[in-house]
Amino acid sequence: MNARLSTETTELAIAELKTLLGARASTGLSVLDLHAGDESHHDRHRPQIVVSPETTAEVAEIVKIAARYRVPITAFGAGSGLEGGAIPIQGGISLDTARLDQIIEVRADDMIARVGAGVRRLDLNRVLRDTGLFFPVDPGANASIGGMTSTGASGTNAVRYGVMRENVLGLTVVTADGNIVKTGSLARKSSSGYDLTRLFVGAEGTLGIVTEIAIRLHPIPDAISAHAGFATLAGAVNAVIDIKRAGLAIGRVELLDQPLVGVINRRGTWQLPALPTLFFEFHGTQSEIAALSDTIAAIVSEHGGTPLQWPGPGEGTVRLWETRRDVLSWARGERPGSTSWPSDVCVPISALADVILETRADVDRSGLTAYIVGHVGDGNFHCVFKYLPEEAEQVAEVSGRIVERAIAAGGTASGEHGIGLGKRKYLEAEHGAEAVALMRSLKVALDPLGILNPGKVVPDPEPAH
Ligand SMILES: Cc1cc2nc3c(=O)[nH]c(=O)nc-3n(C[C@H](O)[C@H](O)[C@H](O)COP(=O)(O)OP(=O)(O)OC[C@H]3O[C@@H](n4cnc5c(N)ncnc54)[C@H](O)[C@@H]3O)c2cc1C
Repeated sequence: MNARLSTETTELAIAELKTLLGARASTGLSVLDLHAGDESHHDRHRPQIVVSPETTAEVAEIVKIAARYRVPITAFGAGSGLEGGAIPIQGGISLDTARLDQIIEVRADDMIARVGAGVRRLDLNRVLRDTGLFFPVDPGANASIGGMTSTGASGTNAVRYGVMRENVLGLTVVTADGNIVKTGSLARKSSSGYDLTRLFVGAEGTLGIVTEIAIRLHPIPDAISAHAGFATLAGAVNAVIDIKRAGLAIGRVELLDQPLVGVINRRGTWQLPALPTLFFEFHGTQSEIAALSDTIAAIVSEHGGTPLQWPGPGEGTVRLWETRRDVLSWARGERPGSTSWPSDVCVPISALADVILETRADVDRSGLTAYIVGHVGDGNFHCVFKYLPEEAEQVAEVSGRIVERAIAAGGTASGEHGIGLGKRKYLEAEHGAEAVALMRSLKVALDPLGILNPGKVVPDPEPAH
């Protein structure tokens, strides 16, 4: 089912794409280079052409050309992915969604927006601000809504608002034969037919190209943030588990391990106790927050935590979350020449403390440099290696053990970054051979020529003997 690339057919496809799109079909080296990689550690690979459609109809024409000449086609959103999903590893067409950037409709009363796949989440929230609504899924990077849909993204807000799967109501998708399919509706729930929307959410562009997304919006909350240090990493994790079990509604809760707090302190703009630390954000009215924070302070203290520290509304809160966003790039800066490799496992919350502690111990034994940070309210954490080229093999081994540990605990190889290139080898261990075979059948049914982002997500079948 692999797309076949020959120089001749690719040249024909390129000529047709240039006729269709003019200057919006580029074979310039600098443009190809910009689409050869994402933010992951995976090797870069250039496409042969980059196309920038402006409408769903143009996307359909592009896909028809790709199908006619059997040329691979890989969607490119903001390129902030961390698993190599947007890298066109078999060359061909990189379809950049940046010009699908229309905010088509904001239905404030319904708390729904319809947006083009290329709309960036920060731009959307800027436009929404006056409506009192926002789109809460926040993967840290200024990702495109199409990319976030296709990776099943989440982030710091997911503990309260859910992930992309819960926040996408419907899609417009161009399928591998160039047909335009609408899925879902603007209703907030539906029991009608197969759930095609969720088939495409998280499919990483291997089943279709998403061109429009209908998303849920939420009221902008009153929010205030706090942080607390803990005598032990286990204490920090167990505090979160108790907060969750008590059903307390927090906006965000993020774990930073002690080495990462060391990075913040060395940066010098803010001094924290050199302890494993939780950053909290509470949402609600002042009296709700007061009641909530008293209960949380008591749980924190039971687990060896310091009293909650309040950096203050406004600037203090902004600084806390900017620190969370930036601290991993500061850590990389401390190791010149290093590359980042983040693991992304998610486990049942009852297994979280053990899996994190075993991971920290494994990393410490290895002598590698890595930091643990996590959306622990969801059971999702990142062990982020900052490694030099000669350490790559060792990082792959420790990363592999993190995934195996998570799967053994009933968890998943990827809580939010997707399978892309790096996690394909774990798909069968996580889902079983039958489920992977079913995924492969779905792929073949929807993309019989294998032109959509080939080499991603579903592992290639064993060659027949
Ligand atoms: C500093 C940093 C922090 C991050 N933190 C988080 C985090 O907390 N949570 C999280 O979930 N992610 C996180 N990420 C990863 C990244 O931001 C997400 O994976 C995001 O969803 C990728 O969106 P994108 O627009 O950059 O997509 P890209 O990287 O361009 O593409 C990602 C995948 O989606 C496919 N794709 C893109 N657009 C479409 C489309 N329109 N139709 C079909 N397929 C498409 C691509 O082919 C590729 O397979 C982080 C990244 C960085 C750099």
